[in-house]
Amino acid sequence: MAHGLNPAQHAAVETLSGPLLVLAGAGTGKTRVVTTRIANLIKHRIKPDRILAVTFTRKAAGEMQERALALLGGPEKPGKTHRRAKPKGPKIRPQISTFHALCVQVLRRHITQLGYPPQFAICDRGDQESLARTSLRDIRCPEDSLRPGDLLAIISNWKNKSLRPMQAASEATSDKEHLAAAAYRRYQSSLKARGMVDFDDLLLCTEELFTKYPAIRREEAGHFDHVLVDEYQDTNGSQYRIVKALAMGHRNLCVVGDDDQSIYGWRGAEVEHILRFKEDWPDAKVVRLEENYRSAGAILEYANTLIAFNKKRHDKILRPARGAGQRPIIMQLPDEAQEAERVVGDIHMQLTQPGMQAKDFAILCRTNEQPRAFETELRRLKLPYILVGGQSFFDRKEVRDLLAYLKTVENPTDETSLLRIINTPPRGIGNATVKQLLAEAVNRGEPIWTVLREAAGGGGATGNAIGKFVKLIGELKEIADRGAPVDKLVDAVVDRTQYRRELDRLYPDPMEREARTASIEELINAGAAYNKGKKTKKDEEEIPLLRGFLDDVALGGSDNRDEKEDQLQRNAIALMTLHSAKGLEFPYVYMVGMEEGILPHKRTLEMPDESQIDEERRLCYVGVTRAQEKLTMSFALTRRKWGKPKDTVPSRFLYEMTGQAENAAKARAAAAATLGPHKKHPAAKGAGGPKGGKGAKGAKGSQSRSPRR
Ligand code: ATP
Ligand code: MG
Repeated sequence: MAHGLNPAQHAAVETLSGPLLVLAGAGTGKTRVVTTRIANLIKHRIKPDRILAVTFTRKAAGEMQERALALLGGPEKPGKTHRRAKPKGPKIRPQISTFHALCVQVLRRHITQLGYPPQFAICDRGDQESLARTSLRDIRCPEDSLRPGDLLAIISNWKNKSLRPMQAASEATSDKEHLAAAAYRRYQSSLKARGMVDFDDLLLCTEELFTKYPAIRREEAGHFDHVLVDEYQDTNGSQYRIVKALAMGHRNLCVVGDDDQSIYGWRGAEVEHILRFKEDWPDAKVVRLEENYRSAGAILEYANTLIAFNKKRHDKILRPARGAGQRPIIMQLPDEAQEAERVVGDIHMQLTQPGMQAKDFAILCRTNEQPRAFETELRRLKLPYILVGGQSFFDRKEVRDLLAYLKTVENPTDETSLLRIINTPPRGIGNATVKQLLAEAVNRGEPIWTVLREAAGGGGATGNAIGKFVKLIGELKEIADRGAPVDKLVDAVVDRTQYRRELDRLYPDPMEREARTASIEELINAGAAYNKGKKTKKDEEEIPLLRGFLDDVALGGSDNRDEKEDQLQRNAIALMTLHSAKGLEFPYVYMVGMEEGILPHKRTLEMPDESQIDEERRLCYVGVTRAQEKLTMSFALTRRKWGKPKDTVPSRFLYEMTGQAENAAKARAAAAATLGPHKKHPAAKGAGGPKGGKGAKGAKGSQSRSPRR
């Protein structure tokens, strides 16, 4: 049997059939159970391709793949001495994917049943925003009543609760919600008209297919005999039902998770799913793991003390398997710039010690704004770092332009993409012409592409320009249809549109131009890497290269892990949000901005509902439990808001984890009323001597939170 497992883990791994729940705290080896169990199933002659594992991290996926392949590659029949030549047929592997990637596969096969074209496109954030904007315009919603970004958040919220436009409309209570419901209907029908789905639709449509068409559910479920799910506490309603639909036939379902690490409540995840598992599957075997192998004892003590403040939870025992190690450190700094300087300086210094590597360090933030100061500092000291969860590569203008070309080539009726590039780089098809073409398309109920093709022969300067554009897309399509690798296609787009000249025109600054050119190169690299991956991995069904690549981009462009994990392989300091750090571990972790209004997030301070604070506390718990050797937490005494320094209040969680319930209550009160006076943080005493004590000047008059007044 596999080594490196304790008896409880062993019991889980040796349970080869039936429903199985592993409910255990952070770092107890849940993910290790999943990977070892897959290997064990294969060892027991379950065919690898009959196993489906849904996971959130590539690290886990890679480990699972490796173990499975190691078993597959092992001597099957010891008697045979000669080596067989390369095995014939496709390599069989367990399918290890994210929920969204899994859904894309299902939808490619069956989405026509729901009235979408099989070559549907997955729209990105930019597409979504422009659709949201037009939907709001269509219902004549005044600009300041509802902004596109807010509308998208509301829609996503509904979709995460599996609410369709009709249901959303009937559940809407406030004016804003009524407006949003009307816009939602528009948004959804324009998506469909364009043959597009958004990220949430991937789940919703799959769920719909499974409920409406039992034959499809059976067909899809029939691909697998075993389903395993990691991080089960973060599944939302659709994901929960999809898992159930896939497993209800064979009932071989293994889920692992930790209710204390449920951090996607705002995205519709329901921690109840994991707690209710036993009700859904009454014969489920439940395994609890109690030893934490990851963190030094002192770190774990902080984590345990902190999470005990959540009232609604399954009490779990978490015992350190390791010694106490170093006590966590709390640093107090005068302002956010000095916080960044201190933290990065600290890492810099440690990196001069022998045996230390950049990838052993992580800086964890709560918000998307925090990393900027740290990035500046990391650059200044020329330390290698990767920013996870910042502006995605795929959101850069030049990348989006080129992708829009690829999308148009793949599907010319993808109107959002077509309109993006119709005059980029400028080719003499002005705004007025585009408006005219659009109006005609709407009038005739035809895609704008059809109208364009007809206008191509129209003569005149405009007709000529349109003709050239249509010809260009046609030529690119030919290249794609010949099965050209994606990098060659990107090359062709850049070449034929003279996109480099466009960069020269837009960015006179050579530095800027260089950065933009680097993104093009990166996209070409991504295309080449995709082709290479395809060549080594023979899929049962051939998806055309270009479409497959665009699917991959769409999945990777969200907060999906793939790109992230690839980056993490590089030897670089990880600068990331707490949400993205889930499931990962680092020897040295810095949790920064430990202040009321950041962690817990200011949005949750305004909610009367304690459950929001509980989720923030779980997020904090996730952060603390990422650390293996040493945890450092920092806060600044003042932080700029709208350019002006404002006093801060140290996070109540700092007090809670150090067992100072009274101070925690004070922090909470101070945060609720104002971001008012504070003293030197008592928890910071003897905490490795941060220099920030002088920053206690902040103990002066109180400051009201201006945005609220
Ligand atoms: P999280 O809740 O953060 O996802 P987890 O429960 O999935 O954590 P793992 O990531 O599987 O935990 O394991 C945490 C660490 O402990 C890993 O480094 C893993 O290799 C190690 N580990 C797991 N089980 C054992 C064991 N029985 N003996 C020694 N080390 C172990
Ligand atoms: Mg895990």
